[in-house]
Amino acid sequence: MDLILFGPPGAGKGTQATRIKEALEVPQISTGDMMRAARREGTPLGKKFDEYMQAGKLVPDSMVLELMKERLSKPDAAKGAIFDGFPRTKAQAEALDELLAAMDRKIDAVVVLDVPLEDIVDRVTGRRQDPTSGQVYHVRYNPPPAGLEVIQRKDDTEEVVRKRFEEYEANTKPVLPHYEAKGLVKRVDGVGSLDEVTERIRSALGE
Ligand code: ADP
Ligand code: AMP
Repeated sequence: MDLILFGPPGAGKGTQATRIKEALEVPQISTGDMMRAARREGTPLGKKFDEYMQAGKLVPDSMVLELMKERLSKPDAAKGAIFDGFPRTKAQAEALDELLAAMDRKIDAVVVLDVPLEDIVDRVTGRRQDPTSGQVYHVRYNPPPAGLEVIQRKDDTEEVVRKRFEEYEANTKPVLPHYEAKGLVKRVDGVGSLDEVTERIRSALGE
C-alpha cells in the first residue's frame, strides 16, 4: 500500500506513521527526517537543507525529488510506503505519481489530519525527540520516560512554526485537489488522544 499522511506541521503525521507502519508492512518515508540526517552528516547538501529548514521555508522541489528517487529505489520500499511530509507541492505530487507509475504502483489513499493552528503551535513548541532512536515525544501530551535525554528541533520555535504553517497553507494545501479528483482523500480529526487518532485512521482506511 502507498499511503500519504497529509496535514500541517505538527499534525501528528510522524507519530501516527510510526504507529501504523507495522500493520501495513511498509516503511515510513519522512523527507524531513531524511534532511535532518543529511544535516547531521554535515554534507554540503545537508547544509543547504538547513538554510531552508531554519527559515521555515520549503526545500526546492529538485532537491527533495532527488532524495525521494533514491529512497524509493531501496528494497524495503518495493511494496509500498507511508509518505510523511511529502509531497508538499503540486510538482512533488506529480513527480511522485510518475515515480510510482514506473514501479506499477499508485497512491492508494491520502489521510488528512485536521488540526487547528492553536493546537499546532502548542504541539510543535512542546515537541521533543530522543536523538538516538528518533522517537518523538511531547512535554505534556506524550512525555518522555524519566531520565531520557531529549532534544528540541531548531525549527520548533513559535516564530518558525507560524512560517511553516503559512507555507502549508500557500503551497501544500493546494496539492489536495490533485488527490480529491481521484477520490483518494480521507479526512480525519487529528485532535484527540494518540490512540483515538490511530483508531480513526484505521477506520478511514477500512482496516
Ligand atoms: P508531524 O509529523 O505532523 O510534524 P508529530 O507526529 O511530530 O507531527 O507531532 C507533533 C507533536 O505533537 C509531537 O510532540 C507529538 O508528540 C505531539 N502529538 C502527536 N499527536 C498528538 C495528539 N493526538 N495529541 C497531542 N499531541 C500529539
Ligand atoms: P518536517 O520534518 O516534515 O516537519 O519538515 C521540516 C522541514 O523540512 C520543512 O519545514 C521544510 O523546510 C523541509 N521539508 C521536509 N519535507 C519537505 C518537502 N517534501 N518539500 C520541501 N521541504 C521539505
